[in-house]
Parts: sequence; structure tokens; C-alpha cells
Amino acid sequence: MKKPPLIWTNILLFAITFLGAVILVPWYGITYGYGMAEWVAFVGLAFASGLSITAGYHRLWSHRTYKAHWSVRFLFALGGALALQNSALHWSSDHRIHHKHVDDNDKDPYSANMGFWYSHIGWMLREYQAQRYHDYKNVRDLQNEKIVMWQHKYYLPLLIIMNIGLPALLGWLNGDVWAMLLMAGLLRLVVVHHCTFFINSLAHIWGSQPYTDKNTARDNGVLALFTYGEGYHNFHHIFENDYRNGILWWHYDPTKWLINAMAWTGLANNLRVTPQERIESAKLQMQLKKAQHKVTQLANHEEILEKIHAEYELLKTHIADYYQAHKELLEAKRKQLTTHQLMQQVEHLKQELLARQKQWKSLTTGFA
Ligand SMILES: [Zn+2]
Ligand SMILES: [Zn+2]
Repeated sequence: MKKPPLIWTNILLFAITFLGAVILVPWYGITYGYGMAEWVAFVGLAFASGLSITAGYHRLWSHRTYKAHWSVRFLFALGGALALQNSALHWSSDHRIHHKHVDDNDKDPYSANMGFWYSHIGWMLREYQAQRYHDYKNVRDLQNEKIVMWQHKYYLPLLIIMNIGLPALLGWLNGDVWAMLLMAGLLRLVVVHHCTFFINSLAHIWGSQPYTDKNTARDNGVLALFTYGEGYHNFHHIFENDYRNGILWWHYDPTKWLINAMAWTGLANNLRVTPQERIESAKLQMQLKKAQHKVTQLANHEEILEKIHAEYELLKTHIADYYQAHKELLEAKRKQLTTHQLMQQVEHLKQELLARQKQWKSLTTGFA
């Protein structure tokens, strides 16, 4: 089959910036040196542009997981231009298709089934899906947003102002324009490019699948460190409307922390969270599947399978009972009708659930 035509603007952009970052940046450092200001600007702008993609393009505009004040949306539009990953409108359109048709090589714009190179960067180097390139039907809601459309219209001047104008200004203030252009402009751009591209490539290849195996998305705590918290991609693909990706307190998810901080200061609201019961059920189902798979290789598997199924059903009812009681308790609290008896009942169910979970764990890990 004939390959689609190359997109030379993208090829030159990625090639020149990459070569510049690996050759010019160290050469200038060895010859003239970089100061503290350049390093601080590098880290600062890396977070500003990276978080504009993850908290802005991704969790706000693509998935609508929360609502944000116009000033925040304006900053995300500028930060998104700084990240140089196309306009928020275009990015979100691509991303919604990615979720809808994940791993489908004909429809998913960066299908992981096409391999690492394609899902990382290759998909942007040829006109693979040119027929839908200007089709923004799946982002009609965003077309009603003034800031999104303003950024889309003035994307080219904005990216020049943000990627060259801003570092040049910082460099002029600091007394070394070239050093700042190289560190806060060029190196920062290339690093953030590849870190965010990892979400489409590595986060669909490397890691675990605790919630679903219906797609290639993985959970990976190490990758979260490089992707502003988006490494918990298996969770994200099953619960895409959740503003969090890392759901446990120790999960590294600075995008979630930023959204939380904005909520505390009143700049964000309507944060959407998946009910814990649904998360537990998804996890349990995957554990059952994995245990079944392991057990079928054993000689006496029928008997063990029966035991696992019985325990699974028991645990499922316990989960349902506990979360139902928990919901009733919250409702009672809201109406200020909490009774000692109700609280005791919830606590009792919780202890029972914990015991059952322990039992389930020892039963299923025994076959690992
Ligand atoms: Zn994905
Ligand atoms: Zn997503």
C-alpha cells in the first residue's frame, strides 16, 4: 500500500528542534555556560506548558472533567501554544477520537497497535487521516468557547510569541538572550514534546492493567513522573470523565494537585469523580480474570475456580452493601439526621469488607 504524503512542516519542526536541543544547547553550555536563571526558567516553562496540555487541553477541554474560570482557560491557551502541540480545538478533537476508537488502526489517530514510533511521533509525520483533519464535529461544545476559538484562529502568532518572544524577553531581562532562548525555548520545547508524547506511546505499552484489559492503556507510576501525572493511563481510559488520573494520595499527579489548588481558590469547580464503588468493581473484575487465567493451567482447576467464584460473588455483595450504607450515611449527614446506629452499621460493614478483601487477596495471590 502506498504511504500517505509526508508533512514536511512537522518533519522539519521536530528534526530541527531535536537536533538543536542535542547539539546547540550543550555546545553553548560548554562554551559560555548557563546560570541559575536559565535553569529556573527551563523548569518553570516546562511545567507551565506541560500542565497546560494535561490540565487544560486534556482534562478540561477534551474530557470536560471540571469547569474553570476564564483567566485559567486563557493561561492554558497561552501555555498550550507554548507547548506547540496544535490548537486546543484540534488536539481535543484528535483526543476524543483516540478514546472513542482506541487501538483501532484506521480510526485512532495515534493507535498504539501501530507500534511505538507511530504512536509517539510517526502519526504526525504523514497525512494519515487527512480526510478528517478539519472535521471538528466532535468538539462542537468547544466551538462555543471564545478562548478556544481565539487560540485556534491566532495559533501561529501565539506560538511565535510564546516560544520565541517570551524566552527572548526573559533573556533580555537576565542579560543573555541566547542562553534563555536555548534553555527556556528550545530544550524545554523538545523535552516537553517527548514527555507528553510518551502518554500516547509508552503509556499504552509499559505498565499494568489493574482496571481493564479491553484496550492497551497501562498504569505506570514511573511514567507519571515524566508526564505530569498522566502515567495512570489504564485508569484514565476506563474512567475518562474523572479529573484525577492517579487516585491514591501517594500517586504522583501534579495535574490533579493543580486542579485541586484551583478548586480551593475558587478558580475551578464541578470536579468530576468516579464513584469508588465502580472503581472497586472494575478492579475486582480484573483480578478475577487474572486469577481465572492462572488457575486454568492447574490440574485441579475446577474445584479452585469454584472457590474463587464463590469468594468473588461474596466480595461483590459486600462491596455493594458497604457503598449503599455509606451513601445512606452521607445522605443522613446532609440532612443532619445521622444516628449512632447508622454510623455503627457502616463501620461494621467496612470491617467486614476489609476482612473479605483480605481473604480474596490471599486466595487469588496464592495462584500467582
Ligand atoms: Zn491513551
Ligand atoms: Zn484522555
